[in-house]
Amino acid sequence: MTQAQLEALLQRLTVRLAAALRAEPFDPRAGHQVGAELVAAHIASAEGLGRTVEVIQLRLVRDLGLLADDVEDRMARLLATVATGYARALRDRTLDEQESIRRAALVARAQAERALRDSESRFRHQATHDPLTELPNRTLFTERLSAAIARPGPGADRVGVCFLDLDRFKVVNDSLGHQVGDALLIAVAGRLRQALGEHLVARLGGDEFVILVERTSHTDDVVKVAEAALAAVGAPALVGGHELTVSASIGIVERPVAGTTPGELMRAADSTLHWAKAAGGARWSLFDPDRHRTELARYALAAAIPTAIDRGEFYLDYQPLTSLRDGTLLGVEALVRWRHPELGVLRPDAFIGLAEETGLIVRLGGWVLAEACREAESWSTGGGPAPFVSVNLAVRQVHRPGLVQEVSGLLGRTGLPPERLQLEITESTMMSTAEDPVRSLRVLADLGVRIAIDDFGTGYCNLAYLRDLPVTELKVAGEFVAGLRAPAVAPGSRTDERILASLVSLAHALDLTVTAEGVETAGQAERLRTIGCDAGQGWHFGRPAPAADILARIR
Ligand code: C2E
Ligand code: CA
Ligand code: CA
Repeated sequence: MTQAQLEALLQRLTVRLAAALRAEPFDPRAGHQVGAELVAAHIASAEGLGRTVEVIQLRLVRDLGLLADDVEDRMARLLATVATGYARALRDRTLDEQESIRRAALVARAQAERALRDSESRFRHQATHDPLTELPNRTLFTERLSAAIARPGPGADRVGVCFLDLDRFKVVNDSLGHQVGDALLIAVAGRLRQALGEHLVARLGGDEFVILVERTSHTDDVVKVAEAALAAVGAPALVGGHELTVSASIGIVERPVAGTTPGELMRAADSTLHWAKAAGGARWSLFDPDRHRTELARYALAAAIPTAIDRGEFYLDYQPLTSLRDGTLLGVEALVRWRHPELGVLRPDAFIGLAEETGLIVRLGGWVLAEACREAESWSTGGGPAPFVSVNLAVRQVHRPGLVQEVSGLLGRTGLPPERLQLEITESTMMSTAEDPVRSLRVLADLGVRIAIDDFGTGYCNLAYLRDLPVTELKVAGEFVAGLRAPAVAPGSRTDERILASLVSLAHALDLTVTAEGVETAGQAERLRTIGCDAGQGWHFGRPAPAADILARIR
């Protein structure tokens, strides 16, 4: 407030108070208004009030002249009400200020909360949806599934899940590029959403989708959904200028909500999906608890392999490979066994397939190879040349880049001469288009290691192809030899014998020796010898047994 404004104000108030002093009847409440005006004029401190009242009093005295006692008394009362009015107005103003601050704070908070909610819901959307297809993602799906299981409403005591995976999606990605792959996923997502509107469809990642079917009353309810999904996916789609037809596989689980967990349900649906895939795809499979239990037990067994190696639960039996010409022991095949602490001694058929599937065969096979070389080094027949040891190699072991170093390292460490090691590989290993396995087998063959084709005749190998491979021996599968058990006059038996005979002569033309497997009788052995087969393996010559037993018997 400027000096002039202040002067004007004081003048106005003085006049007002003077009027009040003279008024009949006298009403001191006129002072309240004056006090309030002082506050409104921002004279808002105690000193400010004191000085102002003093000035007004002086002016009144000056203007009114000498005061009569009664006027003096009125003046005192009037000035008191000025103070009261001032105090009240000041208090009201403070309250108003506080109130408006409070209100502003409320408004600000509400705004902040709204902004937070907006960004939270944006953030939540991002966190619960797949950016590519805009479908709900695994998080949201798991939330909804968990809720369906944990808080089943009335009539919602069963729940179903379809676990869907496109067949051969990788081929689309690899041949047409990721952009086309992405576009296909978007198209599939849209169709699934449209076809299964009421059910939650989520993308778990890659080409994996899941469908939640709530409030089911029977497995058929979910089968219907799965069939609708397969139909939706299967219609041809125009994607990036390509007309693509894809199929999908679906694993279906439908069960009571009680006693299950989201994790269990998803795992069950996932393994059921793999049954559908294994059956050729483009279909749905239904969860089967017995099959699931068997698989779990198999996987538990596989998972126990590394620890079992460390604990020394594996050991090798050896089976003689005997010359058909003079009956000498040419070599022995190492056959792995597992002395399982609970299940007893397990034959390789119980765990080798599993170990191959899981890749654990590389470690297990490495152990077998090392153990066989270590044991074989000390063998002697007390006379003739010591037998070689024949070790089975799984496809994965042969395809490993480090195979040559592994084998030559073992030979160096154990002191086993290379020609006393034979590696048995299957036809399929050799037939692979990859160059590397052939190259590393050739390096090993050049070192002097023997290479045999195991189970010959059960795969797709052809003899002409063998000419260019570093192979020294064929082991003919037991099935061919089995035919020789029947009397030689039986027609089927003669056919088997002729096949074997031509196989042996072809092998010899290629400089390969032939060992017949599964020789169980003396008759078989004799007929094989007549055909020209070089060696035999089987119960007739000796069952698999610890090395010491076989070597002792030979000596
Ligand atoms: P395989 O290489 O064909 O081994 C011969 C199998 O035939 C052995 O079974 C042996 O016990 C059995 N056998 C031997 N003589 C006879 C006979 O006269 N009649 C009949 N019916 N069977 C006979 P085993 O020991 O159960 O081994 C099964 C398969 O497991 C092997 O077949 C081989 O493919 C695999 N395997 C064994 N040890 C290893 C290993 O260390 N590594 C790998 N990768 N596979 C192995
Ligand atoms: Ca073998
Ligand atoms: Ca074999």
